Amino acid sequence: MAEMSLFQNALKQFNKAADVMDLSESMRQVLSYPRRELTVNFPVRMDNGEIKVFTGHRVQHNVARGPAKGGIRYHQNVNLDEVKALAFWMTWKSAVVGIPYGGGKGGVCVNPQDLSMGELERLSRRFFSEIQIIIGEGEDIPAPDVNTNAQIMAWYMDTYSMNVGHSVLGIVTGKPLEIGGSKGRPEATGRGVRVVAEEAAKYKGMDPKTATIAVQGFGNVGSFAAKLIQEEMGSKIVAISDVSGGLYNPDGFDIDEVIAYRDQNNGIIEGYPKGQKITNDELLALDVDILVPAALENAITVKNAENVKAKIIVEGANGPMTPEADEIILSKDIFVVPDFLANAGGVTVSYFEWVQGLQHYFWDIEDVRRALHKIMKEAFSSVASTMNKYKIDMRTAAYVDSIEKVAHATKLRGIYP
Ligand code: NAD
Repeated sequence: MAEMSLFQNALKQFNKAADVMDLSESMRQVLSYPRRELTVNFPVRMDNGEIKVFTGHRVQHNVARGPAKGGIRYHQNVNLDEVKALAFWMTWKSAVVGIPYGGGKGGVCVNPQDLSMGELERLSRRFFSEIQIIIGEGEDIPAPDVNTNAQIMAWYMDTYSMNVGHSVLGIVTGKPLEIGGSKGRPEATGRGVRVVAEEAAKYKGMDPKTATIAVQGFGNVGSFAAKLIQEEMGSKIVAISDVSGGLYNPDGFDIDEVIAYRDQNNGIIEGYPKGQKITNDELLALDVDILVPAALENAITVKNAENVKAKIIVEGANGPMTPEADEIILSKDIFVVPDFLANAGGVTVSYFEWVQGLQHYFWDIEDVRRALHKIMKEAFSSVASTMNKYKIDMRTAAYVDSIEKVAHATKLRGIYP
C-alpha cells in the first residue's frame, strides 16, 4: 500500500493542474503512464566469492520533448513505484526550464554502505549493462542521484563505451571533469536555488540585500545555495543546519568558513563555534524572510507547518513539504517556489554537459553560469505569469506550464502509427 503512495501523490498534483487547464481525458491518460518500465535482476560476485542477486529499475516516463533524463539512486528502499514517481517529476522538471529532455529515473535496491569498493564497481557495471537495452545518448541519459556520484558515472560511461567499442561521452552526466564532466556542475543546483530566491524576493517586493535567510541541509544543494545567496544576493544567512542539528547567528555566517569547517569535520557543522545551537525544528520556525529546505523530503509536515514564519520558501530539496503541509503553508500566505522549478539548476547543467560531450567542445565556467542564470530566471518569470493568469499557487502553475509544453509536443508529434 505504502509503495503505491508516492506515484499516486504525484498523480494527485498532476490532476490538480490538469483540472485548472482543462486538459482532455485522452491527454491525461497519455501523460499519466510511464512509457517504459524495465526491471532487472542481476548477479554480482561478492568479495567472499558468493553470488548475490540485486534488483534494479529504469523507468522512462515521457520522451515527447527529447530523450529521457534522470538520475540513478542506490538505496535499500528503492522500488518501482518510487522510481516511477521520480521519472514522472523529471518530465515536468525538464519541461519547466525548457530543456529538450523527457523524464527518466533509475535505482538499485541496495545499501551501498554494505558494499566494498570492488563490489560497488561490479554492481554498477553489471546494472548499467543490464539497462543498456533502453539507454543511449539519444534515448536516455542517466546521472547521479542519492548515493551515486561522479566515480560511479565514470564506471557507467566506461562500461557502455567498452560494450560499444568506443568512448561515448554523452551517455551519462555528472561525470568527473577529466572524462567529459562540465565545469559548474557541482554548484549548479545551489546556483539555481540562488537565482529563483532572488527572483522570488523581487517578486514579493523584498530587498535581497536586507533579507535574512535560513537554510536547512548543508550538503551539495544547501551549502552552495547559502554561499551564493550570501555572496551574490548580499543577503544574511542567519541559520544553517544538517543531520547533526542547527546553528543560529543573527549577524550572519561566513559560509566559506563553515564549508571549510564541515570539510574538516566528517561533513557535519556540529561544533562550529560562531553560532548558537538550535534544532532543525527551531530553524524551520525562525522569523526569517526566506527559508530554504535543502535536506530531505517531508521536512515540513502537518506537525510543524503552522510554526513556519518565513515569508518565502524556496524548495531546494525534492518534496520537502507533504501535500497536507503545503495546504497549511498556502493558507498562511507564504510564497513557495516549488521543488521541480527551484532545484532544476542541476538537470540544466547536466544538459550543458551532454551538449558539450556530444560536440567534444567544452565551455568556460562563465558560459555555464550565464546560460544557467538566464534559463532559471526565464522559467521563474514564465511560471509567475501562469500563476497570475490562472490565479493559482506557484506549484500548480509550474505543473500547468510544464504540462502545456509536453502536451503540445505530444500533439505536434501525433500518436504513432
Ligand atoms: P547531500 O547528501 O549532499 O546533503 C544533504 C544534507 O542534508 C546534508 O547536510 C545532511 O546532513 C542533511 N540532512 C540529512 N538528514 C537531515 C535531517 N534529518 N535534518 C536536517 N538535515 C539533514 O544531498 P544534496 O545533493 O544536497 O540533496 C539535497 C536534496 O536536494 C535532496 O532532496 C535531493 O534529492 C535534492 N536535489 C539535489 C540535486 C543535486 O544536484 N544534488 C538536484 C536536485 C534536487
